[in-house]
Amino acid sequence: MSKMNDLATFMDRSLKDASANYKNDLRILPNAKVMKMGGQSITDRGRNVVFPIIDEIVENSANHDIIMTTGGGTRARHTYQVGIDLGMPVGVLSEMGGAITVQNARMLQMVMAKHGGIFLDHLEFEKIPLFLKLGCIPIMPGMPPYSFWEDIPDHGSIPIHRTDCGAFFTAEALGADTVYFIKDERGLYTEDPKKNPNAEFIQKIHVDDLIERDLGDLIIERVVLDYLKRSRWVEKLVIVNGMEKGALTESLNGNPSGTVIYR
Ligand code: ADP
Ligand code: MG
Repeated sequence: MSKMNDLATFMDRSLKDASANYKNDLRILPNAKVMKMGGQSITDRGRNVVFPIIDEIVENSANHDIIMTTGGGTRARHTYQVGIDLGMPVGVLSEMGGAITVQNARMLQMVMAKHGGIFLDHLEFEKIPLFLKLGCIPIMPGMPPYSFWEDIPDHGSIPIHRTDCGAFFTAEALGADTVYFIKDERGLYTEDPKKNPNAEFIQKIHVDDLIERDLGDLIIERVVLDYLKRSRWVEKLVIVNGMEKGALTESLNGNPSGTVIYR
């Protein structure tokens, strides 16, 4: 601590040593179960898919401190398309895509209102413990609020930090060890199973192996893998099939039937 204060700049290479104990930072809510409700994969499918998985989430909220984040989905993709056509820079696209995740969070909150679903904006992060204590299920827009300050992508202008990333950072900030991604497939396959039904299911994979395999398409945003490598608290990403009854419950109880990506 004192060493850091003594340093003239944060660019000083010796800071690396001074911050060697950084792993001891605070785990705010280590038991929180942060889960992202897929946008395209779940919410966009409508009530036949959304209502059963919500019932399962509500059942599990009796035993787990559940925090939900939302995806964007088809409307976000359309928004990006129109925005790119009109020449919108990445920060504007991030803001626009984020607005769709607010829509989805609002809808899910209304559907879950009778079970204590409560809408929480990013700036209300500190209220999470209060709502959990009251037995509520906080639902946050999934887009991480980089907004106009979104990172510059290597290619094109679609923000690299989207809603899988938002769920990851929510879990990491709270000190949770797992992020649950509720999607419409059992988990990760060697290829998109919708395009190749013979793609092989991958039950468990180390993040380094997955990056090394450089698969043509993934079920989660690529950048999340890079962050998992550097995370302080998140140890694994669990992909859950939200269309298979019981899959989420099993995952929350430590027996995931989907894919586990670990570090
Ligand atoms: P979300 O709506 O949660 O953001 P996405 O639609 O972005 O979900 O991603 C989930 C989709 O990714 C799945 O529906 C699946 O069709 C597709 N996908 C692409 N590559 C893979 C892969 N290697 N393994 C499994 N699913 C994949
Ligand atoms: Mg997605």
